[in-house]
Amino acid sequence: MYDLLLIRYGEIGTKGKNRHMFEQRLQANIQAALKDLGIEEVERAHTRLYVPLKAGLDGMVQRLQRVFGIASFSPVVRVPLEVEAIKEAAKEVVAASLQERHIGPEDKLTFKVITRRANKGFPITSPELSRDLGAVLLREFPQLSVDVHQPQLSVEVEIREHYSYVYTERIPGAGGLPVGVSGKGVLLLSGGIDSPVAGYQMMKRGVDTIAVHFHSYPFTSERAKEKVLDLAKVLAGYGGPIPVHVVHFTEIQKAINEHCPPKLMITIMRRMMLRLAEAIARREGAAALITGESLGQVSSQTMDSILVTNAVAQLPVFRPLIGFDKTEIIDLAERIGTYKISIQPYEDCCTIFVPRHPETHPKLAEVEKAEEKLAVDELLEEALAQTEVVVCGEK
Ligand code: ATP
Ligand code: MG
Repeated sequence: MYDLLLIRYGEIGTKGKNRHMFEQRLQANIQAALKDLGIEEVERAHTRLYVPLKAGLDGMVQRLQRVFGIASFSPVVRVPLEVEAIKEAAKEVVAASLQERHIGPEDKLTFKVITRRANKGFPITSPELSRDLGAVLLREFPQLSVDVHQPQLSVEVEIREHYSYVYTERIPGAGGLPVGVSGKGVLLLSGGIDSPVAGYQMMKRGVDTIAVHFHSYPFTSERAKEKVLDLAKVLAGYGGPIPVHVVHFTEIQKAINEHCPPKLMITIMRRMMLRLAEAIARREGAAALITGESLGQVSSQTMDSILVTNAVAQLPVFRPLIGFDKTEIIDLAERIGTYKISIQPYEDCCTIFVPRHPETHPKLAEVEKAEEKLAVDELLEEALAQTEVVVCGEK
Protein backbone atom coordinates (compact mmCIF):
# COMPACT_ATOMS: atom_id res chain seq x y z
CA MET A 1 0.00 0.00 0.00
CA TYR A 2 2.68 2.53 0.95
CA ASP A 3 4.55 3.72 -2.10
CA LEU A 4 7.17 6.04 -0.65
CA LEU A 5 9.18 7.04 2.34
CA LEU A 6 8.84 10.73 3.10
CA ILE A 7 12.01 12.02 4.76
CA ARG A 8 12.20 15.13 6.95
CA TYR A 9 15.33 16.93 7.94
CA GLY A 10 15.79 19.05 11.01
CA GLU A 11 18.48 21.59 11.48
CA ILE A 12 19.61 21.86 7.90
CA GLY A 13 16.40 23.63 7.01
CA THR A 14 17.56 26.58 9.07
CA LYS A 15 20.90 27.22 7.45
CA GLY A 16 19.91 30.02 5.07
CA LYS A 17 22.04 30.23 1.97
CA ASN A 18 23.76 26.95 2.62
CA ARG A 19 20.50 25.14 2.45
CA HIS A 20 20.82 24.07 -1.13
CA MET A 21 24.23 22.51 -0.47
CA PHE A 22 22.89 20.79 2.64
CA GLU A 23 19.95 19.33 0.79
CA GLN A 24 22.10 18.12 -2.05
CA ARG A 25 24.51 16.44 0.32
CA LEU A 26 21.74 14.76 2.25
CA GLN A 27 20.22 13.54 -0.99
CA ALA A 28 23.56 12.09 -2.11
CA ASN A 29 24.19 10.46 1.28
CA ILE A 30 20.74 8.84 1.27
CA GLN A 31 21.38 7.62 -2.25
CA ALA A 32 24.70 6.08 -1.20
CA ALA A 33 23.13 4.43 1.87
CA LEU A 34 20.38 2.78 -0.18
CA LYS A 35 22.43 1.87 -3.21
CA ASP A 36 22.96 -1.75 -2.23
CA LEU A 37 19.16 -2.18 -2.12
CA GLY A 38 18.97 -1.13 -5.75
CA ILE A 39 17.34 2.19 -4.90
CA GLU A 40 18.82 5.12 -6.78
CA GLU A 41 15.93 7.56 -7.02
CA VAL A 42 15.86 10.10 -4.22
CA GLU A 43 13.47 12.92 -5.03
CA ARG A 44 13.87 16.32 -3.43
CA ALA A 45 11.10 18.89 -3.22
CA HIS A 46 10.36 21.70 -0.78
CA THR A 47 12.08 20.64 2.45
CA ARG A 48 11.19 16.99 1.96
CA LEU A 49 12.88 14.05 0.31
CA TYR A 50 11.08 11.05 -1.13
CA VAL A 51 12.36 7.56 -1.74
CA PRO A 52 10.40 4.78 -3.44
CA LEU A 53 9.57 1.96 -1.06
CA LYS A 54 10.86 -0.72 -3.37
CA ALA A 55 12.84 -2.88 -0.98
CA GLY A 56 11.65 -4.30 2.35
CA LEU A 57 10.79 -1.59 4.87
CA ASP A 58 13.05 -3.02 7.59
CA GLY A 59 16.19 -2.89 5.47
CA MET A 60 15.45 0.66 4.41
CA VAL A 61 14.73 1.79 7.97
CA GLN A 62 17.96 0.26 9.20
CA ARG A 63 19.99 2.11 6.57
CA LEU A 64 18.19 5.44 6.82
CA GLN A 65 18.53 5.52 10.60
CA ARG A 66 22.29 5.74 10.06
CA VAL A 67 22.16 8.73 7.76
CA PHE A 68 22.94 11.92 9.67
CA GLY A 69 20.76 14.91 8.89
CA ILE A 70 17.49 12.99 8.86
CA ALA A 71 15.09 14.09 11.61
CA SER A 72 12.41 11.50 10.92
CA PHE A 73 10.73 9.61 8.10
CA SER A 74 7.40 8.01 7.34
CA PRO A 75 5.99 5.41 4.98
CA VAL A 76 3.37 7.41 3.04
CA VAL A 77 0.64 7.01 0.46
CA ARG A 78 0.93 9.62 -2.27
CA VAL A 79 -2.33 10.77 -3.84
CA PRO A 80 -3.42 13.68 -6.06
CA LEU A 81 -4.62 16.97 -4.56
CA GLU A 82 -8.22 15.77 -4.38
CA VAL A 83 -10.35 15.38 -1.29
CA GLU A 84 -11.86 12.06 -2.35
CA ALA A 85 -8.49 10.51 -2.99
CA ILE A 86 -7.23 11.75 0.38
CA LYS A 87 -10.25 10.22 2.12
CA GLU A 88 -9.64 6.86 0.48
CA ALA A 89 -5.97 6.95 1.40
CA ALA A 90 -6.83 7.83 5.01
CA LYS A 91 -9.16 4.82 5.22
CA GLU A 92 -6.46 2.63 3.76
CA VAL A 93 -3.71 3.68 6.16
CA VAL A 94 -6.02 3.41 9.18
CA ALA A 95 -7.16 -0.08 8.14
CA ALA A 96 -3.51 -1.12 7.83
CA SER A 97 -2.62 0.37 11.19
CA LEU A 98 -5.55 -1.36 12.92
CA GLN A 99 -4.52 -4.65 11.42
CA GLU A 100 -0.92 -4.19 12.45
CA ARG A 101 -1.98 -3.40 16.02
CA HIS A 102 -4.43 -6.30 16.05
CA ILE A 103 -7.36 -4.01 16.81
CA GLY A 104 -10.59 -5.87 15.98
CA PRO A 105 -14.08 -4.34 15.56
CA GLU A 106 -14.80 -4.93 19.27
CA ASP A 107 -11.69 -3.10 20.48
CA LYS A 108 -11.22 0.60 21.12
CA LEU A 109 -8.62 3.03 19.83
CA THR A 110 -8.39 6.82 20.11
CA PHE A 111 -7.22 8.85 17.15
CA LYS A 112 -6.71 12.31 15.76
CA VAL A 113 -6.24 13.72 12.25
CA ILE A 114 -3.45 16.24 11.76
CA THR A 115 -3.40 18.17 8.47
CA ARG A 116 -0.59 20.38 7.25
CA ARG A 117 -1.39 22.50 4.21
CA ALA A 118 1.92 23.71 2.78
CA ASN A 119 0.16 24.37 -0.54
CA LYS A 120 -2.11 27.32 0.14
CA GLY A 121 -3.67 26.88 -3.30
CA PHE A 122 -5.54 23.88 -1.96
CA PRO A 123 -9.10 25.14 -1.38
CA ILE A 124 -9.83 23.54 2.00
CA THR A 125 -8.13 24.73 5.19
CA SER A 126 -6.30 22.33 7.47
CA PRO A 127 -8.88 22.33 10.31
CA GLU A 128 -11.71 21.77 7.84
CA LEU A 129 -9.97 18.86 6.15
CA SER A 130 -9.08 17.31 9.52
CA ARG A 131 -12.72 17.51 10.57
CA ASP A 132 -13.96 16.00 7.31
CA LEU A 133 -11.49 13.16 7.44
CA GLY A 134 -12.20 12.53 11.12
CA ALA A 135 -15.90 12.14 10.35
CA VAL A 136 -15.18 9.78 7.46
CA LEU A 137 -12.93 7.60 9.64
CA LEU A 138 -15.39 7.53 12.55
CA ARG A 139 -18.08 6.29 10.18
CA GLU A 140 -15.82 3.68 8.65
CA PHE A 141 -14.20 2.24 11.80
CA PRO A 142 -16.49 1.68 14.83
CA GLN A 143 -13.53 1.07 17.14
CA LEU A 144 -12.25 4.64 16.77
CA SER A 145 -12.98 7.60 19.01
CA VAL A 146 -11.41 11.05 18.92
CA ASP A 147 -8.82 12.21 21.41
CA VAL A 148 -7.07 15.38 20.29
CA HIS A 149 -4.68 15.48 23.26
CA GLN A 150 -3.17 12.01 23.56
CA PRO A 151 -4.39 9.95 20.62
CA GLN A 152 -3.19 6.37 20.28
CA LEU A 153 -3.21 6.81 16.52
CA SER A 154 -2.31 9.96 14.59
CA VAL A 155 -3.44 10.14 10.99
CA GLU A 156 -1.35 12.77 9.28
CA VAL A 157 -1.99 14.51 5.97
CA GLU A 158 0.41 16.81 4.17
CA ILE A 159 -0.87 18.90 1.31
CA ARG A 160 2.16 19.77 -0.80
CA GLU A 161 2.83 21.37 -4.18
CA HIS A 162 1.89 18.51 -6.47
CA TYR A 163 0.56 15.75 -4.23
CA SER A 164 -0.96 14.94 -0.88
CA TYR A 165 0.66 12.48 1.50
CA VAL A 166 -1.16 10.38 4.07
CA TYR A 167 0.49 8.39 6.86
CA THR A 168 0.28 7.21 10.46
CA GLU A 169 3.85 6.56 11.52
CA ARG A 170 6.94 8.64 12.21
CA ILE A 171 10.23 6.80 12.53
CA PRO A 172 12.99 8.76 14.30
CA GLY A 173 16.16 9.51 12.30
CA ALA A 174 19.73 9.92 13.55
CA GLY A 175 19.59 13.72 13.71
CA GLY A 176 22.76 15.73 13.22
CA LEU A 177 24.00 17.16 9.92
CA PRO A 178 24.72 15.35 6.64
CA VAL A 179 28.26 13.99 6.60
CA GLY A 180 30.34 16.29 4.42
CA VAL A 181 28.64 19.63 5.07
CA SER A 182 31.03 20.60 7.87
CA GLY A 183 34.26 19.89 6.02
CA LYS A 184 36.93 17.27 6.57
CA GLY A 185 38.56 16.10 9.82
CA VAL A 186 41.33 13.66 10.76
CA LEU A 187 40.36 11.23 13.51
CA LEU A 188 43.17 9.76 15.61
CA LEU A 189 41.78 6.26 15.75
CA SER A 190 43.23 3.83 18.28
CA GLY A 191 41.80 0.40 18.94
CA GLY A 192 40.27 1.65 22.18
CA ILE A 193 36.72 2.42 23.18
CA ASP A 194 36.85 6.20 23.02
CA SER A 195 38.21 7.30 19.67
CA PRO A 196 35.63 5.49 17.48
CA VAL A 197 32.89 7.16 19.52
CA ALA A 198 34.61 10.54 19.08
CA GLY A 199 34.64 9.93 15.31
CA TYR A 200 30.96 9.07 15.36
CA GLN A 201 30.14 12.27 17.25
CA MET A 202 31.95 14.46 14.73
CA MET A 203 30.46 12.60 11.77
CA LYS A 204 27.10 13.34 13.35
CA ARG A 205 27.95 17.04 13.11
CA GLY A 206 28.64 16.68 9.40
CA VAL A 207 32.41 16.07 9.40
CA ASP A 208 33.75 13.99 6.56
CA THR A 209 36.17 11.83 8.51
CA ILE A 210 39.47 10.26 7.57
CA ALA A 211 41.40 8.27 10.16
CA VAL A 212 45.00 7.98 11.26
CA HIS A 213 46.25 5.00 13.21
CA PHE A 214 49.69 4.72 14.75
CA HIS A 215 50.94 1.21 14.53
CA SER A 216 54.02 -0.16 16.30
CA TYR A 217 54.72 -3.36 14.45
CA PRO A 218 56.28 -5.71 15.55
CA PHE A 219 55.62 -4.56 19.14
CA THR A 220 51.95 -4.56 18.27
CA SER A 221 50.53 -7.32 16.12
CA GLU A 222 49.00 -7.35 12.68
CA ARG A 223 45.75 -8.29 14.41
CA ALA A 224 45.82 -5.02 16.39
CA LYS A 225 45.82 -3.18 13.08
CA GLU A 226 42.98 -5.32 11.71
CA LYS A 227 40.94 -4.40 14.77
CA VAL A 228 41.31 -0.71 13.96
CA LEU A 229 40.29 -1.32 10.36
CA ASP A 230 37.23 -3.21 11.64
CA LEU A 231 36.34 -0.18 13.76
CA ALA A 232 36.70 2.08 10.74
CA LYS A 233 34.36 -0.20 8.80
CA VAL A 234 31.69 0.22 11.46
CA LEU A 235 32.11 4.00 11.33
CA ALA A 236 31.89 3.87 7.54
CA GLY A 237 28.35 2.57 7.99
CA TYR A 238 27.40 6.08 9.16
CA GLY A 239 28.95 8.16 6.43
CA GLY A 240 30.58 6.20 3.65
CA PRO A 241 34.08 4.78 3.12
CA ILE A 242 36.84 5.96 5.48
CA PRO A 243 40.49 6.01 4.40
CA VAL A 244 42.68 4.89 7.30
CA HIS A 245 46.25 6.13 7.21
CA VAL A 246 48.28 3.53 9.08
CA VAL A 247 51.46 5.23 10.23
CA HIS A 248 54.53 3.20 11.16
CA PHE A 249 55.19 4.52 14.67
CA THR A 250 57.79 2.03 15.90
CA GLU A 251 60.93 4.03 15.26
CA ILE A 252 59.47 7.08 16.98
CA GLN A 253 58.58 5.07 20.05
CA LYS A 254 62.00 3.50 20.14
CA ALA A 255 63.68 6.90 19.87
CA ILE A 256 61.56 8.35 22.66
CA ASN A 257 62.23 5.34 24.82
CA GLU A 258 65.92 5.68 24.25
CA HIS A 259 66.40 9.43 24.61
CA CYS A 260 63.65 10.88 26.79
CA PRO A 261 62.83 10.63 30.51
CA PRO A 262 60.34 7.80 31.09
CA LYS A 263 57.83 9.98 32.90
CA LEU A 264 57.50 12.22 29.81
CA MET A 265 57.19 9.37 27.32
CA ILE A 266 53.46 9.50 26.93
CA THR A 267 53.35 13.28 26.60
CA ILE A 268 56.04 13.26 23.92
CA MET A 269 54.39 10.34 22.14
CA ARG A 270 51.11 12.28 22.05
CA ARG A 271 52.88 15.32 20.66
CA MET A 272 54.43 13.21 17.91
CA MET A 273 51.01 11.76 17.12
CA LEU A 274 49.46 15.19 16.80
CA ARG A 275 52.28 16.41 14.58
CA LEU A 276 51.86 13.43 12.27
CA ALA A 277 48.09 13.73 12.20
CA GLU A 278 48.40 17.40 11.36
CA ALA A 279 50.81 16.70 8.51
CA ILE A 280 48.32 14.21 7.09
CA ALA A 281 45.45 16.64 7.61
CA ARG A 282 47.23 19.31 5.61
CA ARG A 283 48.03 16.88 2.83
CA GLU A 284 44.41 15.71 2.68
CA GLY A 285 42.83 19.15 2.97
CA ALA A 286 41.36 18.50 6.42
CA ALA A 287 40.75 21.42 8.76
CA ALA A 288 40.58 19.77 12.19
CA LEU A 289 41.94 16.90 14.26
CA ILE A 290 39.70 14.69 16.40
CA THR A 291 40.66 12.64 19.46
CA GLY A 292 38.81 10.51 22.00
CA GLU A 293 40.19 12.31 25.02
CA SER A 294 38.02 12.80 28.09
CA LEU A 295 39.14 15.14 30.84
CA GLY A 296 40.91 13.37 33.69
CA GLN A 297 40.38 9.86 32.33
CA VAL A 298 44.09 8.99 32.37
CA SER A 299 47.31 10.86 33.17
CA SER A 300 47.68 12.11 29.60
CA GLN A 301 44.25 13.70 29.74
CA THR A 302 44.69 16.19 32.56
CA MET A 303 44.42 19.89 31.68
CA ASP A 304 48.20 20.26 31.98
CA SER A 305 48.84 17.28 29.70
CA ILE A 306 46.34 18.50 27.15
CA LEU A 307 47.92 21.97 27.24
CA VAL A 308 51.38 20.60 26.52
CA THR A 309 50.18 18.17 23.83
CA ASN A 310 47.99 20.72 22.16
CA ALA A 311 50.88 23.18 21.90
CA VAL A 312 52.23 21.40 18.79
CA ALA A 313 48.95 21.67 16.85
CA GLN A 314 48.05 24.56 14.60
CA LEU A 315 44.72 23.08 13.56
CA PRO A 316 41.87 22.94 16.06
CA VAL A 317 41.71 19.66 17.95
CA PHE A 318 38.14 18.51 18.53
CA ARG A 319 37.60 16.39 21.63
CA PRO A 320 33.90 15.65 21.54
CA LEU A 321 34.11 13.31 24.57
CA ILE A 322 35.90 15.77 26.84
CA GLY A 323 32.91 16.03 29.17
CA PHE A 324 31.74 12.42 28.98
CA ASP A 325 32.04 9.79 31.71
CA LYS A 326 33.48 6.44 30.72
CA THR A 327 30.11 4.78 31.31
CA GLU A 328 28.45 7.23 28.94
CA ILE A 329 31.09 6.55 26.30
CA ILE A 330 30.60 2.80 26.69
CA ASP A 331 26.82 3.17 26.29
CA LEU A 332 27.37 5.07 23.06
CA ALA A 333 29.97 2.59 21.84
CA GLU A 334 27.49 -0.23 22.36
CA ARG A 335 24.76 1.66 20.59
CA ILE A 336 26.84 2.47 17.51
CA GLY A 337 28.32 -1.03 17.30
CA THR A 338 32.00 -0.42 18.09
CA TYR A 339 32.17 -1.67 21.69
CA LYS A 340 32.54 -5.39 20.99
CA ILE A 341 35.42 -4.72 18.61
CA SER A 342 37.11 -2.23 20.94
CA ILE A 343 37.27 -4.65 23.86
CA GLN A 344 39.07 -7.35 21.88
CA PRO A 345 42.33 -7.82 23.74
CA TYR A 346 44.94 -6.64 21.27
CA GLU A 347 47.68 -4.38 22.53
CA ASP A 348 47.83 -0.76 21.46
CA CYS A 349 51.03 1.19 20.85
CA CYS A 350 50.30 3.17 24.01
CA THR A 351 50.45 0.07 26.15
CA ILE A 352 54.03 -0.76 25.28
CA PHE A 353 56.93 1.13 26.81
CA VAL A 354 54.51 2.60 29.32
CA PRO A 355 56.32 4.13 32.30
CA ARG A 356 55.29 3.21 35.80
CA HIS A 357 54.72 6.81 36.85
CA PRO A 358 53.69 9.00 33.94
CA GLU A 359 53.74 12.73 34.58
CA THR A 360 50.25 14.06 35.15
CA HIS A 361 51.35 17.70 35.20
CA PRO A 362 54.04 18.08 32.54
CA LYS A 363 55.63 21.49 31.96
CA LEU A 364 55.95 22.70 28.39
CA ALA A 365 59.53 23.96 28.81
CA GLU A 366 60.64 20.65 30.28
CA VAL A 367 59.00 18.66 27.51
CA GLU A 368 60.48 20.87 24.80
CA LYS A 369 63.88 20.43 26.37
CA ALA A 370 63.50 16.66 26.40
CA GLU A 371 62.48 16.69 22.75
CA GLU A 372 65.75 18.38 21.79
CA LYS A 373 67.32 14.94 22.08
CA LEU A 374 65.13 13.73 19.24
CA ALA A 375 65.52 14.31 15.53
CA VAL A 376 61.87 15.29 15.42
CA ASP A 377 61.62 16.34 11.77
CA GLU A 378 63.45 13.30 10.42
CA LEU A 379 61.43 10.95 12.57
CA LEU A 380 58.20 12.51 11.35
CA GLU A 381 59.29 12.36 7.73
CA GLU A 382 60.34 8.73 7.96
CA ALA A 383 57.10 7.71 9.63
CA LEU A 384 55.02 9.54 7.04
CA ALA A 385 56.97 7.95 4.22
CA GLN A 386 56.01 4.53 5.57
CA THR A 387 52.31 5.29 5.80
CA GLU A 388 49.90 2.86 4.23
CA VAL A 389 46.35 3.93 3.32
CA VAL A 390 43.53 1.39 3.63
CA VAL A 391 40.05 2.46 2.58
CA CYS A 392 37.48 0.86 4.88
CA GLY A 393 33.84 0.29 4.12
CA GLU A 394 33.97 0.31 0.34
CA LYS A 395 31.08 -1.56 -1.17
P1 ATP B 1 40.91 5.29 23.15
O1 ATP B 1 39.92 4.43 23.81
O2 ATP B 1 40.35 6.11 22.07
O3 ATP B 1 42.18 4.54 22.77
P2 ATP B 1 42.08 5.99 25.62
O4 ATP B 1 41.18 6.33 26.72
O5 ATP B 1 42.72 4.67 25.56
O6 ATP B 1 41.34 6.33 24.25
P3 ATP B 1 44.63 7.20 25.19
O7 ATP B 1 45.20 5.87 24.87
O8 ATP B 1 45.26 8.07 26.20
O9 ATP B 1 43.14 7.16 25.64
O10 ATP B 1 44.51 8.00 23.83
C1 ATP B 1 43.93 9.27 23.76
C2 ATP B 1 43.58 9.56 22.30
O11 ATP B 1 44.77 9.55 21.50
C3 ATP B 1 42.71 8.47 21.71
O12 ATP B 1 41.34 8.69 21.98
C4 ATP B 1 43.02 8.59 20.24
O13 ATP B 1 42.30 9.65 19.65
C5 ATP B 1 44.50 8.95 20.24
N1 ATP B 1 45.32 7.72 20.11
C6 ATP B 1 45.88 6.97 21.09
N2 ATP B 1 46.55 5.92 20.56
C7 ATP B 1 46.43 5.99 19.24
C8 ATP B 1 46.89 5.19 18.14
N3 ATP B 1 47.61 4.10 18.31
N4 ATP B 1 46.56 5.57 16.89
C9 ATP B 1 45.80 6.68 16.69
N5 ATP B 1 45.33 7.46 17.68
C10 ATP B 1 45.64 7.13 18.94
MG1 MG C 1 43.91 3.99 23.95
